[in-house]
Amino acid sequence: MEQLKCIGCGATIQTENPKEIGYTPKSSVEKMENQIIYCQRCFKLKHYNEVQDVSLTSDDFLKILQRVGETDALVINIVDIFDFSGSMVVGISRHINGNDILLVGNKVDLLPKSVNKTKLNHWMRRSLKEMGLKPLDVALVSAAKGLGIDELMEMIEKYRKGRDVYIVGCTNVGKSTLVNRIIKRFTEEREDIITTSHFPGTTLDIIEIPLDDDTAIIDTPGIINDHQLAHYVTPKVLKEITPKKEIKAGVYQLNPEQTLYIGGLARMDFVKGERTSFITHFSNALHIHRTKLEKADQLWQTQAGQVLKPIVEENGQPMAMEKHVYRIGKEKTDVVISGLGWITLVGTGQEITVHAPKGVGVLVRPSLI
Ligand code: GDP
Repeated sequence: MEQLKCIGCGATIQTENPKEIGYTPKSSVEKMENQIIYCQRCFKLKHYNEVQDVSLTSDDFLKILQRVGETDALVINIVDIFDFSGSMVVGISRHINGNDILLVGNKVDLLPKSVNKTKLNHWMRRSLKEMGLKPLDVALVSAAKGLGIDELMEMIEKYRKGRDVYIVGCTNVGKSTLVNRIIKRFTEEREDIITTSHFPGTTLDIIEIPLDDDTAIIDTPGIINDHQLAHYVTPKVLKEITPKKEIKAGVYQLNPEQTLYIGGLARMDFVKGERTSFITHFSNALHIHRTKLEKADQLWQTQAGQVLKPIVEENGQPMAMEKHVYRIGKEKTDVVISGLGWITLVGTGQEITVHAPKGVGVLVRPSLI
């Protein structure tokens, strides 16, 4: 069969992988009239003004970032506040070359009321500074619920100063959901203004939404970040561990030498210290199992995938976990397991060990509550 090309973006049509460029359902290819065919992504864009995410690997993405670095533009970087370290674009500061960045933390609707948004905002800024980034501003939004969108639109207008706006982010952070909201806001009274084009030097298509005669919003494909927990688990498990509504905190008063299993995905051992309150912040669907430290290993051997579930599997076996040891120094500290949630400890001087799947980020921060 000769290679078919989408007349919207020029991508080669393929019918196998819906997540990759050029996907078109088989039935549409069979119905093709007059050699005119749109890939599913362009079709949705044309008819519904809806962006569908395509993903790509680091090398291609670096090419895009380098191009962005060569232009004077405002870069909007979207991250998932539940997976902040896992959803930061690796090396972004180096490639963006001093361009202005607006950081957008998405999924704020999932935070319990007890979380202080100002503290979250400050923590995000501090973490960015450690990565060598100084954003112009930080916005907290919920793309799904439409929270904080007005403020974000105001920030975009304020900071873009007549320049192009590039939107970047990892897969799964809610980029398409947010971009679709932004597009709808900018195009409320206009029709047919979305265009797709190739990104120079790559085979990737980008989406441009003209803002005025000279400038546009440019949506770049979602980058795959290997550290995201989302890449280790099956789609079914991902569904289970992704909170869907405001998470409810759980409180556990633990003595030393006790352990909490977070489903079968992570484990926290309270090794030493005085009796302490541990406040868990995970998807309500995840069962927290409490046990004695001396029994924890054996429990894993007999119950991984049974009582302790879901688990991350590797070649049909529970994946080995990596240990992270901490000595808590602040009065209130969050131990964050990227992509999963966090545990707040009240008091100081505790020694804890966190076991998490290899590659998944674990970190501590001053508590957000
Ligand atoms: P993309 O891969 O970054 O384009 O992400 P999507 O827009 O496809 O969203 C990924 C997942 O996050 C989907 O299950 C969305 O329903 C969910 N999601 C997106 N935005 C939000 C949000 O503001 N709050 C919550 N709770 N979920 C969201």
